This record gives sequence, C-alpha cells and structure tokens, in this order.
Amino acid sequence: MIAQKRSNPRAEHRLRQLQRANESVSLAEKFPNLKSLMAHLTYFSPDGLTRNGEVRYTVHVGHAKSAFSFACQNRECVGGDFDLSEAVAAAVVARTKAVEGEVRCQGSRDRPPDGKQPCQNLLRYKLLLGYV
Ligand SMILES: [Zn+2]
Repeated sequence: MIAQKRSNPRAEHRLRQLQRANESVSLAEKFPNLKSLMAHLTYFSPDGLTRNGEVRYTVHVGHAKSAFSFACQNRECVGGDFDLSEAVAAAVVARTKAVEGEVRCQGSRDRPPDGKQPCQNLLRYKLLLGYV
C-alpha cells in the first residue's frame, strides 16, 4: 500500500518560495553597488486600519537573497507573499536612498461556507538604501 501524502497547500507554497529564494543570487551579487539596506515593514489588515505587526531590521546584503519577499502573517493564507524584489531593484537602478510603498497579499483564505476569499492583507514598507 502506498501512503497517501496529505496535501498542505500552505506548506507547499512556503517550500516553493524557499527554493526560489535559495536559487536566487544574493543582493550583493545582483547589485554590486548596494552597500546597505534597511527594511521597515508594517503589516496591516486589508482595510489598512488595523496594524498587525511591525518589523524593522538591517538586511545583510551579502547573505540576503535577491528574491526578496516576506510571508503573509495570516495563518490561513495560502500562496500569500509580499514580494519586494521589484521595489529593491527599481530603487537600486535609480540609486534612490529611501523608498516607501505598499503591497497587497495576493494569496487567498479558505473561509467556509464562502469558499476561497482573497486575502488582501496590506504591507507598508520603507526601505533605506546605501550605495558604494
Ligand atoms: Zn495573505
């Protein structure tokens, strides 16, 4: 008898994202002129009014991957990520020292009896960049 593997869409998505990150080069390799990167992330509910969390940290550009994305904090959310790769790339190309913006989670949550609902959680970010 073959054991049936239980499907866990959330875990599978995380694994795929992890592989994608591992396969990407580091920020320092992709952007040789990027010296430092500070990220200030604030997580909001979809209406943008309730603050669910905040992260402020210095990114180690030599180690951090250029697939620069953060998982949605909602535990029911499947396929949700806040991908800031493009925001970082655009800032570096323009040699911008500070960028602010917001991205919405494109994942979905299974909510019986309504079924799948878009997550739409909001991430407001601020990036401070230093150059060589
Ligand atoms: Zn989400």
